[in-house]
Amino acid sequence: MDAIAAAQVLSEIGYLLRQDPEEKFRAKAFSAAAWALAIERPDLAALHASNELTTLEGVGAGIAKVLAEVLETGGSRYLDRLREQMKQPFRDDESVLDFAQYKGDVHSHSKWSDGRATMLEMARGAEAIGYSYLGVTDHSPRIKVVNGLDADRLLAQSREMAEVQAQVPGVALLQGIEVDILEDGSLDLPDMVLELLDVVIASPHVKLRQEPSAMTERMLRAVSHPHVDVIGHPTGRRPGAREGANYDFEAVFKEAARNHVALEIDCDPARMDLSPEMARLALELGCNFTLDADAHAPAEFAYVPMGMWMARRAGIPQDRILNFLALDDLTDVLS
Ligand SMILES: [Zn+2]
Ligand SMILES: [Zn+2]
Repeated sequence: MDAIAAAQVLSEIGYLLRQDPEEKFRAKAFSAAAWALAIERPDLAALHASNELTTLEGVGAGIAKVLAEVLETGGSRYLDRLREQMKQPFRDDESVLDFAQYKGDVHSHSKWSDGRATMLEMARGAEAIGYSYLGVTDHSPRIKVVNGLDADRLLAQSREMAEVQAQVPGVALLQGIEVDILEDGSLDLPDMVLELLDVVIASPHVKLRQEPSAMTERMLRAVSHPHVDVIGHPTGRRPGAREGANYDFEAVFKEAARNHVALEIDCDPARMDLSPEMARLALELGCNFTLDADAHAPAEFAYVPMGMWMARRAGIPQDRILNFLALDDLTDVLS
Protein backbone atom coordinates (compact mmCIF):
# COMPACT_ATOMS: atom_id res chain seq x y z
CA MET A 1 0.00 0.00 0.00
CA ASP A 2 1.56 3.28 -1.09
CA ALA A 3 1.13 6.71 0.47
CA ILE A 4 -1.57 7.76 -1.98
CA ALA A 5 -3.69 4.68 -1.29
CA ALA A 6 -3.25 5.22 2.46
CA ALA A 7 -4.13 8.91 2.06
CA GLN A 8 -7.40 7.87 0.44
CA VAL A 9 -8.32 5.69 3.42
CA LEU A 10 -7.64 8.54 5.88
CA SER A 11 -9.46 10.95 3.60
CA GLU A 12 -12.58 8.80 3.46
CA ILE A 13 -12.55 8.50 7.25
CA GLY A 14 -12.31 12.31 7.44
CA TYR A 15 -15.22 12.65 5.02
CA LEU A 16 -17.45 10.26 6.97
CA LEU A 17 -16.59 11.89 10.31
CA ARG A 18 -17.32 15.30 8.87
CA GLN A 19 -21.03 14.43 8.49
CA ASP A 20 -21.25 14.48 12.31
CA PRO A 21 -20.74 18.02 13.70
CA GLU A 22 -19.46 16.57 16.98
CA GLU A 23 -16.60 14.89 15.15
CA LYS A 24 -15.52 18.05 13.37
CA PHE A 25 -12.05 18.20 14.89
CA ARG A 26 -11.29 14.53 14.47
CA ALA A 27 -12.51 14.81 10.85
CA LYS A 28 -10.13 17.69 10.21
CA ALA A 29 -7.24 15.77 11.76
CA PHE A 30 -7.82 12.78 9.44
CA SER A 31 -8.19 15.03 6.37
CA ALA A 32 -5.02 16.96 7.30
CA ALA A 33 -3.02 13.76 7.77
CA ALA A 34 -4.32 12.46 4.41
CA TRP A 35 -3.30 15.70 2.77
CA ALA A 36 0.20 15.54 4.25
CA LEU A 37 0.62 11.97 2.96
CA ALA A 38 -0.59 12.98 -0.50
CA ILE A 39 1.91 15.84 -0.60
CA GLU A 40 4.95 14.13 0.94
CA ARG A 41 4.36 10.55 -0.31
CA PRO A 42 6.59 9.04 2.39
CA ASP A 43 7.76 5.43 2.40
CA LEU A 44 5.13 4.20 4.85
CA ALA A 45 6.30 0.60 4.98
CA ALA A 46 9.76 1.70 6.09
CA LEU A 47 8.37 4.13 8.67
CA HIS A 48 6.05 1.47 10.02
CA ALA A 49 8.86 -1.08 10.23
CA SER A 50 10.91 1.30 12.36
CA ASN A 51 7.91 2.36 14.42
CA GLU A 52 8.14 5.95 13.20
CA LEU A 53 4.68 6.65 11.75
CA THR A 54 4.08 9.32 14.39
CA THR A 55 7.01 11.33 13.02
CA LEU A 56 4.77 12.18 10.03
CA GLU A 57 3.15 15.59 10.03
CA GLY A 58 -0.31 15.49 11.57
CA VAL A 59 -0.07 11.82 12.54
CA GLY A 60 -0.64 11.27 16.26
CA ALA A 61 -0.99 7.94 18.04
CA GLY A 62 -4.63 7.40 16.99
CA ILE A 63 -4.10 8.01 13.29
CA ALA A 64 -0.83 6.03 13.40
CA LYS A 65 -2.79 3.04 14.70
CA VAL A 66 -5.24 3.28 11.80
CA LEU A 67 -2.34 3.63 9.36
CA ALA A 68 -0.52 0.63 10.83
CA GLU A 69 -3.59 -1.54 10.32
CA VAL A 70 -4.00 -0.27 6.76
CA LEU A 71 -0.36 -1.15 6.03
CA GLU A 72 -0.62 -4.59 7.59
CA THR A 73 -4.01 -5.68 6.27
CA GLY A 74 -4.90 -3.33 3.41
CA GLY A 75 -8.04 -2.29 5.28
CA SER A 76 -9.32 -0.42 8.29
CA ARG A 77 -11.91 -1.74 10.72
CA TYR A 78 -12.51 1.83 11.85
CA LEU A 79 -13.39 2.84 8.28
CA ASP A 80 -15.60 -0.25 7.88
CA ARG A 81 -17.46 0.67 11.06
CA LEU A 82 -17.96 4.28 9.97
CA ARG A 83 -19.25 3.11 6.59
CA GLU A 84 -21.76 0.85 8.33
CA GLN A 85 -22.84 3.64 10.66
CA MET A 86 -23.33 6.01 7.74
CA LYS A 87 -25.16 3.30 5.80
CA GLN A 88 -22.52 3.36 3.09
CA PRO A 89 -21.14 -0.17 3.48
CA PHE A 90 -18.47 -1.79 1.37
CA ARG A 91 -19.45 -2.52 -2.22
CA ASP A 92 -17.73 -4.95 -4.52
CA ASP A 93 -18.04 -2.81 -7.61
CA GLU A 94 -15.57 -0.04 -6.86
CA SER A 95 -13.49 1.03 -9.83
CA VAL A 96 -9.72 0.92 -10.03
CA LEU A 97 -8.04 4.27 -10.60
CA ASP A 98 -4.33 4.81 -10.85
CA PHE A 99 -3.14 8.30 -9.97
CA ALA A 100 0.06 7.65 -11.95
CA GLN A 101 -2.09 7.94 -15.10
CA TYR A 102 -3.80 11.16 -14.05
CA LYS A 103 -2.85 13.97 -16.45
CA GLY A 104 -3.89 17.24 -14.84
CA ASP A 105 -6.55 19.45 -13.30
CA VAL A 106 -8.94 21.60 -15.31
CA HIS A 107 -10.16 23.76 -12.40
CA SER A 108 -7.75 26.00 -10.46
CA HIS A 109 -7.39 29.57 -9.27
CA SER A 110 -4.62 32.12 -9.22
CA LYS A 111 -4.12 35.60 -7.81
CA TRP A 112 -6.18 36.87 -10.75
CA SER A 113 -9.16 36.12 -8.49
CA ASP A 114 -9.12 34.46 -5.06
CA GLY A 115 -6.11 32.17 -5.44
CA ARG A 116 -3.17 32.65 -3.11
CA ALA A 117 -0.44 32.01 -5.68
CA THR A 118 0.53 33.58 -8.98
CA MET A 119 -0.17 31.79 -12.22
CA LEU A 120 3.56 31.06 -12.52
CA GLU A 121 3.64 29.45 -9.06
CA MET A 122 0.57 27.37 -9.92
CA ALA A 123 2.10 26.26 -13.23
CA ARG A 124 5.35 25.29 -11.49
CA GLY A 125 3.35 23.41 -8.86
CA ALA A 126 1.55 21.45 -11.57
CA GLU A 127 4.90 20.74 -13.24
CA ALA A 128 6.37 19.50 -9.94
CA ILE A 129 3.72 16.78 -9.64
CA GLY A 130 4.10 15.79 -13.26
CA TYR A 131 0.87 17.18 -14.74
CA SER A 132 0.76 17.68 -18.47
CA TYR A 133 -1.92 20.37 -18.33
CA LEU A 134 -3.62 22.80 -16.01
CA GLY A 135 -6.87 24.68 -16.48
CA VAL A 136 -6.59 28.17 -14.98
CA THR A 137 -10.19 29.00 -14.18
CA ASP A 138 -10.54 32.11 -12.07
CA HIS A 139 -13.89 33.53 -11.05
CA SER A 140 -16.32 35.58 -13.14
CA PRO A 141 -17.23 39.22 -12.30
CA ARG A 142 -20.33 38.49 -10.21
CA ILE A 143 -18.16 37.33 -7.33
CA LYS A 144 -17.05 40.86 -6.47
CA VAL A 145 -15.27 39.95 -3.24
CA VAL A 146 -12.79 37.87 -5.19
CA ASN A 147 -12.17 40.34 -8.00
CA GLY A 148 -13.74 38.22 -10.72
CA LEU A 149 -12.60 38.57 -14.33
CA ASP A 150 -14.50 40.42 -17.04
CA ALA A 151 -13.54 40.37 -20.73
CA ASP A 152 -10.83 43.03 -20.31
CA ARG A 153 -9.12 41.26 -17.43
CA LEU A 154 -9.37 37.92 -19.26
CA LEU A 155 -7.52 39.49 -22.15
CA ALA A 156 -4.82 40.80 -19.80
CA GLN A 157 -4.65 37.37 -18.19
CA SER A 158 -4.12 35.72 -21.56
CA ARG A 159 -1.00 37.87 -22.07
CA GLU A 160 0.41 36.79 -18.74
CA MET A 161 -0.48 33.21 -19.58
CA ALA A 162 1.63 33.37 -22.75
CA GLU A 163 4.61 34.51 -20.67
CA VAL A 164 4.08 31.82 -18.04
CA GLN A 165 3.65 29.19 -20.73
CA ALA A 166 7.04 30.14 -22.15
CA GLN A 167 8.62 29.67 -18.71
CA VAL A 168 6.87 26.38 -17.95
CA PRO A 169 6.68 24.67 -21.33
CA GLY A 170 6.02 21.18 -19.93
CA VAL A 171 2.55 22.00 -18.61
CA ALA A 172 -0.04 23.10 -21.17
CA LEU A 173 -1.99 25.98 -19.67
CA LEU A 174 -5.66 26.13 -20.61
CA GLN A 175 -7.31 29.48 -20.14
CA GLY A 176 -10.72 29.14 -18.64
CA ILE A 177 -13.21 30.63 -16.25
CA GLU A 178 -15.26 29.43 -13.34
CA VAL A 179 -18.38 31.26 -14.39
CA ASP A 180 -21.23 31.81 -11.99
CA ILE A 181 -24.58 30.22 -12.67
CA LEU A 182 -26.91 33.15 -11.95
CA GLU A 183 -30.27 32.70 -10.21
CA ASP A 184 -32.13 32.21 -13.47
CA GLY A 185 -29.58 29.77 -14.89
CA SER A 186 -27.95 32.28 -17.22
CA LEU A 187 -24.19 32.71 -16.99
CA ASP A 188 -22.17 35.60 -15.64
CA LEU A 189 -20.29 36.33 -18.89
CA PRO A 190 -21.52 36.84 -22.45
CA ASP A 191 -21.37 33.95 -24.93
CA MET A 192 -18.84 35.75 -27.11
CA VAL A 193 -16.38 35.75 -24.19
CA LEU A 194 -17.05 32.16 -23.12
CA GLU A 195 -16.60 31.00 -26.69
CA LEU A 196 -12.96 32.14 -26.71
CA LEU A 197 -11.93 30.20 -23.62
CA ASP A 198 -10.40 26.72 -23.56
CA VAL A 199 -12.49 25.50 -20.65
CA VAL A 200 -15.69 26.76 -19.06
CA ILE A 201 -16.63 25.53 -15.59
CA ALA A 202 -20.10 26.72 -14.58
CA SER A 203 -20.68 26.68 -10.83
CA PRO A 204 -23.51 27.59 -8.49
CA HIS A 205 -22.16 29.86 -5.71
CA VAL A 206 -25.01 32.04 -4.52
CA LYS A 207 -28.64 31.30 -3.59
CA LEU A 208 -27.87 27.61 -3.24
CA ARG A 209 -30.98 27.10 -1.14
CA GLN A 210 -33.32 28.22 -3.89
CA GLU A 211 -36.57 26.31 -3.87
CA PRO A 212 -36.00 22.95 -5.66
CA SER A 213 -38.15 23.51 -8.76
CA ALA A 214 -36.48 26.89 -9.46
CA MET A 215 -33.07 25.36 -8.73
CA THR A 216 -33.83 22.53 -11.16
CA GLU A 217 -34.72 25.03 -13.90
CA ARG A 218 -31.56 26.98 -13.13
CA MET A 219 -29.29 23.93 -13.36
CA LEU A 220 -31.07 22.59 -16.47
CA ARG A 221 -30.42 25.89 -18.19
CA ALA A 222 -26.76 25.82 -17.17
CA VAL A 223 -26.12 22.29 -18.46
CA SER A 224 -27.83 23.19 -21.73
CA HIS A 225 -25.54 26.13 -22.38
CA PRO A 226 -23.46 25.44 -25.51
CA HIS A 227 -20.16 26.69 -24.02
CA VAL A 228 -20.29 24.93 -20.66
CA ASP A 229 -17.86 22.02 -20.32
CA VAL A 230 -18.11 21.15 -16.63
CA ILE A 231 -20.44 21.85 -13.71
CA GLY A 232 -18.21 22.81 -10.78
CA HIS A 233 -19.08 21.45 -7.31
CA PRO A 234 -22.63 20.62 -8.50
CA THR A 235 -24.34 20.95 -5.13
CA GLY A 236 -22.09 23.40 -3.28
CA ARG A 237 -22.51 21.27 -0.15
CA ARG A 238 -19.93 21.53 2.61
CA PRO A 239 -20.36 18.36 4.65
CA GLY A 240 -21.08 19.16 8.27
CA ALA A 241 -21.10 22.91 7.61
CA ARG A 242 -23.51 23.85 4.84
CA GLU A 243 -26.30 22.02 3.10
CA GLY A 244 -25.99 22.04 -0.64
CA ALA A 245 -28.45 22.85 -3.37
CA ASN A 246 -31.44 20.57 -3.70
CA TYR A 247 -32.85 19.93 -7.16
CA ASP A 248 -34.06 17.18 -9.43
CA PHE A 249 -30.65 15.54 -9.72
CA GLU A 250 -31.86 12.86 -12.08
CA ALA A 251 -33.30 15.36 -14.56
CA VAL A 252 -30.22 17.60 -14.43
CA PHE A 253 -27.68 14.78 -14.64
CA LYS A 254 -29.58 13.27 -17.59
CA GLU A 255 -29.50 16.58 -19.41
CA ALA A 256 -25.80 17.02 -18.57
CA ALA A 257 -25.07 13.60 -20.07
CA ARG A 258 -27.08 14.42 -23.18
CA ASN A 259 -25.10 17.65 -23.67
CA HIS A 260 -21.70 16.10 -22.82
CA VAL A 261 -21.30 18.37 -19.82
CA ALA A 262 -19.11 16.72 -17.19
CA LEU A 263 -19.80 16.85 -13.46
CA GLU A 264 -16.98 17.77 -11.16
CA ILE A 265 -15.96 15.67 -8.21
CA ASP A 266 -14.39 18.40 -6.09
CA CYS A 267 -11.66 16.76 -4.01
CA ASP A 268 -11.23 19.63 -1.54
CA PRO A 269 -11.94 17.93 1.81
CA ALA A 270 -14.12 20.87 2.85
CA ARG A 271 -16.31 20.20 -0.19
CA MET A 272 -16.42 16.66 -1.56
CA ASP A 273 -19.91 17.87 -2.35
CA LEU A 274 -20.94 15.33 -4.97
CA SER A 275 -21.27 12.37 -2.65
CA PRO A 276 -20.24 8.94 -3.97
CA GLU A 277 -23.94 8.01 -4.00
CA MET A 278 -24.83 10.99 -6.19
CA ALA A 279 -21.84 10.40 -8.43
CA ARG A 280 -23.04 6.82 -8.90
CA LEU A 281 -26.46 8.08 -9.97
CA ALA A 282 -24.79 10.44 -12.46
CA LEU A 283 -22.63 7.59 -13.76
CA GLU A 284 -25.69 5.43 -14.35
CA LEU A 285 -27.35 8.32 -16.19
CA GLY A 286 -24.39 8.54 -18.57
CA CYS A 287 -22.39 11.49 -17.24
CA ASN A 288 -18.68 12.04 -17.56
CA PHE A 289 -16.70 13.52 -14.69
CA THR A 290 -13.72 15.63 -13.80
CA LEU A 291 -11.73 15.13 -10.63
CA ASP A 292 -10.40 18.46 -9.47
CA ALA A 293 -8.62 20.02 -6.56
CA ASP A 294 -10.12 23.47 -7.22
CA ALA A 295 -6.63 24.46 -6.03
CA HIS A 296 -6.09 27.97 -4.72
CA ALA A 297 -2.40 27.27 -3.96
CA PRO A 298 0.06 24.66 -5.29
CA ALA A 299 -0.10 22.46 -2.16
CA GLU A 300 -3.82 21.98 -2.81
CA PHE A 301 -3.14 19.98 -5.98
CA ALA A 302 -2.68 17.07 -3.56
CA TYR A 303 -6.43 17.10 -2.89
CA VAL A 304 -6.91 14.95 -6.01
CA PRO A 305 -4.77 11.98 -4.93
CA MET A 306 -6.43 12.10 -1.51
CA GLY A 307 -9.95 12.53 -2.94
CA MET A 308 -9.90 9.91 -5.68
CA TRP A 309 -11.63 7.43 -3.38
CA MET A 310 -14.94 9.18 -4.14
CA ALA A 311 -14.78 8.22 -7.80
CA ARG A 312 -13.66 4.70 -6.91
CA ARG A 313 -16.53 4.30 -4.44
CA ALA A 314 -18.94 5.51 -7.12
CA GLY A 315 -17.59 2.84 -9.49
CA ILE A 316 -16.54 5.40 -12.10
CA PRO A 317 -14.11 3.88 -14.59
CA GLN A 318 -11.07 5.81 -15.74
CA ASP A 319 -12.46 6.36 -19.25
CA ARG A 320 -15.35 8.42 -17.85
CA ILE A 321 -13.01 10.87 -16.11
CA LEU A 322 -11.66 13.63 -18.34
CA ASN A 323 -8.48 14.18 -16.33
CA PHE A 324 -7.13 10.81 -17.47
CA LEU A 325 -7.23 11.96 -21.10
CA ALA A 326 -4.09 13.03 -22.90
CA LEU A 327 -4.02 16.73 -23.78
CA ASP A 328 -5.12 16.32 -27.41
CA ASP A 329 -8.09 14.16 -26.44
CA LEU A 330 -9.03 16.53 -23.65
CA THR A 331 -9.01 19.59 -25.92
CA ASP A 332 -11.17 17.65 -28.41
CA VAL A 333 -13.72 17.00 -25.69
CA LEU A 334 -13.61 20.61 -24.49
CA SER A 335 -13.90 22.23 -27.93
ZN1 LIG B 1 -16.46 27.49 -7.00
ZN1 LIG C 1 -13.10 27.15 -8.02
